[in-house]
Amino acid sequence: MVSSRARVLVMNAALGPLDYRVPHGMEVEPGSIVVAPLGPRQLVGIVWEPERMPSDAEVGDNRLRNLVNVMPAPPLAAPLRRLIEWTADYYLAPAAAVARMTLASTSALEGGRTITEYRATGTPPTRMTPQRAQALERIGDRQGLIRELAIAADVSDGVIRGLVKAGAIEAVEVDIDSPFPLPDPSRGVPTLSPDQHTAAQALIAAVEARDFEPWLLDGVTGSGKTEVYFEAIAAAIAAGRQSLVLLPEIALTEPFLKRFTQRFGCEPVAWHSGLRQSQRRRAWRQIAEGQALVTVGARSALFLPYANLGVIVVDEAHETSFKQEDGVHYHARDVAVMRGLFEKCPVVLASATPAIETRHQVEIGRYKELKLPGRYGSAEMPEITGLDLIAHPPERGRWIAPPLVNAIDETLARREQVLLFLNRRGYAPLTLCRTCGHRFQCPNCTAWMVEHRLTRRLACHHCGHIEPVPRACPECGNEDSLVACGPGVERIADEVAALWPDAKAAIVTSDTIWSPAKAAEFVHRMEAGDIDIVVGTQLVTKGYHFPNLTLVGVIDADLGLEGGDLRAAERTFHQIMQVSGRAGRGEKPGKVFLQTHAPGAAVMQALITGDADSFYAAETEARREAGAPPFGRYAAIVVSSEDKDAAHDIALRIARTAPRIEGMHVYGPAPAPLAMLRGRHRFRLLVHARRALDVQDVIRDWLGGLDWKPKVRVAVDVDPYSF
Ligand code: ADP
Ligand code: ZN
Repeated sequence: MVSSRARVLVMNAALGPLDYRVPHGMEVEPGSIVVAPLGPRQLVGIVWEPERMPSDAEVGDNRLRNLVNVMPAPPLAAPLRRLIEWTADYYLAPAAAVARMTLASTSALEGGRTITEYRATGTPPTRMTPQRAQALERIGDRQGLIRELAIAADVSDGVIRGLVKAGAIEAVEVDIDSPFPLPDPSRGVPTLSPDQHTAAQALIAAVEARDFEPWLLDGVTGSGKTEVYFEAIAAAIAAGRQSLVLLPEIALTEPFLKRFTQRFGCEPVAWHSGLRQSQRRRAWRQIAEGQALVTVGARSALFLPYANLGVIVVDEAHETSFKQEDGVHYHARDVAVMRGLFEKCPVVLASATPAIETRHQVEIGRYKELKLPGRYGSAEMPEITGLDLIAHPPERGRWIAPPLVNAIDETLARREQVLLFLNRRGYAPLTLCRTCGHRFQCPNCTAWMVEHRLTRRLACHHCGHIEPVPRACPECGNEDSLVACGPGVERIADEVAALWPDAKAAIVTSDTIWSPAKAAEFVHRMEAGDIDIVVGTQLVTKGYHFPNLTLVGVIDADLGLEGGDLRAAERTFHQIMQVSGRAGRGEKPGKVFLQTHAPGAAVMQALITGDADSFYAAETEARREAGAPPFGRYAAIVVSSEDKDAAHDIALRIARTAPRIEGMHVYGPAPAPLAMLRGRHRFRLLVHARRALDVQDVIRDWLGGLDWKPKVRVAVDVDPYSF
């Protein structure tokens, strides 16, 4: 008798695919989500075509173990399986680690059409303890699993269960099967400008063609790119197909939901890390079954099991937050294009400042380009002025130079809004002792502790380590000798309060806007005119549209040029163009001041004259000369360990065993850009290769031949952001 075998990719990144017996009466096909035994445990796995996924452990039929069951979820479709294989291959990651991003959380697949959640009844328990009171207060009107409420209230599960018994919290059945509302493509149809119309028609045709086609939607800030790609989404909805919109930050979700509702009459499905289990299951299931027509999310939405994708949009496609830097190191922009290829649907990369890599794809004819050269309606591009800090120094101990102070005065007098941009959270980036020179460094990272006055703490922005701000220097014991060096947004906000005591100011950073709800509150306050001056980090540079915001001041335009990697000028250009793009988006004209010590630098000149093309041409030429992407490629190998010598030894061994290949060069090991991170010492090797070389194959062979103790970790970052 032939037993039926199945090759299963089990959700354990340390294991390759394993073979199982399919018991009589069970039916599986490639893509089926199953439960498989492993030792004493049971793991979720995905059935795969054996020929596409070789197993190193060939097991005889008689030694196979039976699969336990099949999950009641649609099998993962072939295009998604190809995407998982491609991602694993290209980024040198275990296929199981990639597949896990698809399954999101395995319980998203369990049977059942309802889920039991809990919420406060409003009736206090007869026996009220301080802990119970605190729990109920923190829970508020939140609803969720016992576990989720316990986390929100910062108590043990037992406390929540006790409150359920006492009648203060009740169970509610949530129907995760209730369908999402259907967006209506004919609802808020806009009148498009001629440029928008041309672009929209091209995208609609691409959606209707049902074939892979990558597009760059290159439109200046405020040109109405969103309205254009909404038309592509409308075409997909009309055809009953799904759309996916990727945004770089969850803080941008809220304004997006609002605009989407204006256009289509209801919200799309939002996918982000803040979802409750029930929301996750409902979204996952209906995405997999094809009922959820439009999904918007952060990069993790890219791996969801869409049943029939009609279009993928990557908004603000140049954003660096699309690059995932831990776990599977992937670039969501690039994986989105691959997903479009496998799903046979168009992919739209929307940006006012496309990355050099993306422009290059247009130049060589791989991507098609749609341009929106002017702002929508009567809005003009803002006027950008370089403000030479050497010629116009701010007063002692201040950071806003006199010409910018005057411009702010005038703007406030006209009752218009101001945005001051500084990409540094906290009060000051460095605190030191005036007496002995002691500097506060993170015990776990090669980084200074940043003072946060709002919370009265010193914080490490890399590992999250926090300490109270001490009264005296821990080194010499002197009191009142600690000084803050340099500005962060909180310090600028202090200066604003001193100069314009009557103006209403708000600080916008990830410390103050940590959830979509907080972002919504900020948008609301801006629209209501409840804020005159915003002091913010990169969080406010993109997506927002405030017609009454007419002045942008960049406190330190040179900041992004520090570090001096090959991307520094491009990064600075993107960031300042984006933040400038917030000024004058309505009928009133906008102005931008760039405070700089290097007004003559090429990037400053490009920003001031608005000549992006020659800047891009020069940057591209520099990349070509250096053989940097897109003309050559890099991969970083990062070796880390709590034991510095062990990490260094392995890094040296990797360097010594580097294969000698024409067109490939290995640099390092050198201390990684953050030489210590979360208590681990890090060394980095940088592999530089010509474009045509299959660098993944080389690295796979090279590292596959080595082994090291588990206390040393080796991570490969293909196409690293910094080089
Ligand atoms: P971008 O994303 O290119 O920076 P937006 O899509 O945010 O620009 O558009 C800028 C503003 O212009 C938004 O308030 C938007 O609602 C408005 N807008 C753009 N196109 C249209 C249109 N065709 N009809 C009405 N309003 C539009
Ligand atoms: Zn740290």
